[in-house]
Amino acid sequence: MNLDLNNLIKENLPKQTQGKVASYIPALAEVNPNQLGVALYDLKNKEIIQAGDSDVRFAIESISKVITLLWAIKKLGMQEVFTHVGSRQTGFAFNSILNMEINKLKHPMNPFVNAGAIMTTSLIVEDKKRDPEPFAEILDFAQEICNDPDLYLDDVIYHSERRTGNLDRSLAYYMKSKNMMIAEVEPSLDTYFEQCSMMVTAKSLANLGAVLANDGIKPWDGERLISSESATYTKSLMMTTGLYNQSGTYSRLIGVPTKSGVGGGLVSAAPHEYGIGVFSPALDKEGNSVAGLALLQDIVDGLGLDIFK
Ligand code: GLN
Repeated sequence: MNLDLNNLIKENLPKQTQGKVASYIPALAEVNPNQLGVALYDLKNKEIIQAGDSDVRFAIESISKVITLLWAIKKLGMQEVFTHVGSRQTGFAFNSILNMEINKLKHPMNPFVNAGAIMTTSLIVEDKKRDPEPFAEILDFAQEICNDPDLYLDDVIYHSERRTGNLDRSLAYYMKSKNMMIAEVEPSLDTYFEQCSMMVTAKSLANLGAVLANDGIKPWDGERLISSESATYTKSLMMTTGLYNQSGTYSRLIGVPTKSGVGGGLVSAAPHEYGIGVFSPALDKEGNSVAGLALLQDIVDGLGLDIFK
């Protein structure tokens, strides 16, 4: 690869000062903002290239929504999942409750805003006859799709999310009151807070991106983990809603399906080319990593990965 990743890290790291670490979840406010790491899974050469803080663990947060969506589809089928959650952009913040009421929605708008993700997780929780320990299965699946057996649940972050997650709680109770949610609210929320508190690295996210970019087949062992259909659908959803209200802007600037989390992670899937994981915890006001997006843009330009070009 003729791209100097170390140099790109050096150039983009100072941009973190334009952002702030998430503070609405107290445990995330403790994270050092001065970090930037990247890992790329090169599908052609089957190798991982890393630079900067690529092995630092951080909370996966909203990127877990990709994993639970894929797990829900694998367990329950596409049809069942999309009976309960839509595929539209919201035009509102990721944790907005307003849009559901204003638009008199019958289900949350997409699986990547908090309401839609809580709904998706509740479908996994409701399926408890087959799945008595929903989070244990989500964790197993996350370890497998990220090729990261050390991926773990951070108890401090989990309790911090649980203690302060009143907006998420209100979203879930709103959906329950409107009979959108079948499962019990509290176990669904607990599982959602647990999934958000899984600790990953940029490298784990590069592996997740690589499975999506490789049509659902794990490139490291050649086994299919998810259907081609669910990989394709998830990439299209990442392109249209993965960065919340910045999704349109970044589909123009970056042109690669990407999902963000307020832990500062980004996962991208450049079809048949690369899975990319990025980490830098300082966020813009929409909740996306500032230095991370700038670095991602340079990498995509440098490698010519924009799918629209
Ligand atoms: N746990 C976070 C929340 O529920 C996830 C949000 C995010 O990463 N955008 O608010």
